[in-house]
Amino acid sequence: MTPPRRGRRRLPPVQTGLSGRCPECGEGQLFNGLLRYHESCAACNADFRDEDAGDGPAIFVIFAVGIFIIPMALAFHMLLNPPLAVTFVIWSVIIILSSLWLLRLMRGVMFNIAWQRNAREVRLQDFKDTDSKDGGQGS
Ligand SMILES: [Zn+2]
Repeated sequence: MTPPRRGRRRLPPVQTGLSGRCPECGEGQLFNGLLRYHESCAACNADFRDEDAGDGPAIFVIFAVGIFIIPMALAFHMLLNPPLAVTFVIWSVIIILSSLWLLRLMRGVMFNIAWQRNAREVRLQDFKDTDSKDGGQGS
């Protein structure tokens, strides 16, 4: 069975993702809390239960923090020369908070892009459907 086509309205996925909105209607909230998705949209009832952005958002956050924030922490320590514990405490808080903030943004954007492209996880049932259409002969 083919899942229903999504993303018919073609909302801009980056815009709706950054604002944490539903990819289908752009009105309902995508997130239930900081990082967890709602099970469905309160505005249009789009079902989010089988959707997930996977590990992709975390990769982008790791790159962004590693490229931009870690050098700032190193520069802070080398230029101001505070005790190591001060650098560690200050920049641990900055890194954790910025990572969570970036992760929420990226989860919203990647969820919206996947929704607009009708991307989803491949399941064993998908292959069984293909086999039954060609008489079980395979390719
Ligand atoms: Zn919606």
